Amino acid sequence: MKPAPFDYVAPSTVEAAIEALVAANGEGKILAGGQSLVPLLNFRMVRPAVLIDINRIEGLSFIELRGDKIAIGALTRHRALERSQLIAEKLPVMKAAMRHVAHVAIRNRGTIGGSLSHADPAAELPMLALFYGATIVAQGASGRRHIAAEDFFVDALTTCLAPEEIVVEIEFPLLAHDGWGFEEMSRRFGDFALACIAVAIRRGGDVLDDLRVAAMGVGDTPLRLRMVEDQLRGAAIDGSMPERLAQLVSASVSPNSDVHASADYRRHLAGVLAKRALTTALAAKA
Ligand SMILES: Cc1cc2nc3c(=O)[nH]c(=O)nc-3n(C[C@H](O)[C@H](O)[C@H](O)COP(=O)(O)OP(=O)(O)OC[C@H]3O[C@@H](n4cnc5c(N)ncnc54)[C@H](O)[C@@H]3O)c2cc1C
Repeated sequence: MKPAPFDYVAPSTVEAAIEALVAANGEGKILAGGQSLVPLLNFRMVRPAVLIDINRIEGLSFIELRGDKIAIGALTRHRALERSQLIAEKLPVMKAAMRHVAHVAIRNRGTIGGSLSHADPAAELPMLALFYGATIVAQGASGRRHIAAEDFFVDALTTCLAPEEIVVEIEFPLLAHDGWGFEEMSRRFGDFALACIAVAIRRGGDVLDDLRVAAMGVGDTPLRLRMVEDQLRGAAIDGSMPERLAQLVSASVSPNSDVHASADYRRHLAGVLAKRALTTALAAKA
C-alpha cells in the first residue's frame, strides 16, 4: 500500500514545528523515526494533511545526568539508549529492556519520543516511564509543561498530548533500589510482548523496605501496580515472597484476549514473570 497524499515540512526548530502543527489545525503528524507512523500511513490507517519531520531539529538527541535524574531528548534513538554507558549504570532496567524492542534496524531509527507518543500498550519504553516515575516534557504554543508518566498514557495508542504539542524530553529519576528484575515473553524474540514485568526492591535487613512493580501487555496502557507494591512493602523477606507476588500480580491485572493470547494466559504469564523478576531482584543481594 501507499500512503494517501500529504504535504511534507522539515523545520529546524521546535518552535517552527509547533507553528506547523498549529497551522495544520489537527491534520498534522510529527515524523520521528517513522517505525510506527510509516506503516500506519501505508495502510492508510492515518491520513494526515501534513507530515512534520523533526529529524533536522538539533538538540533533541541527548542522554544527560542532571542531579538525581537522567534527561533524555525525544529524538534519542532506541539504539543509543541500548548502547549508552550512562543508561547501563544509572537506569539498568532500561538497559535490560532495550534489546527486547523490535530488531536492530528498527532500534536504529525508532526514538523514545516516538515510542511514548505512540503509546502502544505492549511497548517497553512507556512501561519504563511508569516504572521509573518519569516526567514527560511537552512543548506547545504556550510553552512547556511537565506531565507525570502516570497521567500521560490515557488509553491504547492514546496520550494526553494536545494536537499541537511535541514531546521534547523525558526525565527519569534514579531509583534508590538494590535489586531489580526484568522479564518479558513474546512469541519470537523482538516481537511485541505478550506480557512483561519490571521489579525493583530495596531491602532493610530481612524486610522489604520498598518495592516497585510495573507491567505491560496486560492492559490498555502500561501499568504501575501500586496496590501490589503496598501489600508487600514492609513484609518479611522469605522464600515464599516471589510466589506471593505472582498471585498478587495475576489477581490485579485484567488483560484482553486477542489473536496472540487469551486473557487467562496473559494473566497467568504476568504472575510467572513477576515471580521470576522478584527472584532475580532478591538474588542480587543475597
Ligand atoms: C516490526 C516492528 C516491531 C516493533 N516491535 C516493537 C517492540 O517490540 N517494542 C516497542 O516498544 N516498539 C516496537 N516497535 C515500534 C518502534 O519501537 C517504534 O520506533 C516506536 O514505537 C515509535 O517511534 P518512532 O520514533 O519510530 O515514531 P514515529 O513512527 O515517527 O511516530 C509514532 C507516533 O508518535 C508521534 N510522535 C513521534 N515523535 C513525537 C514527538 N517527539 N512528540 C509528539 N509526537 C511524536 C508521531 O506523530 C506518530 O503518531 C516495532 C516496530 C516495528 C515496525
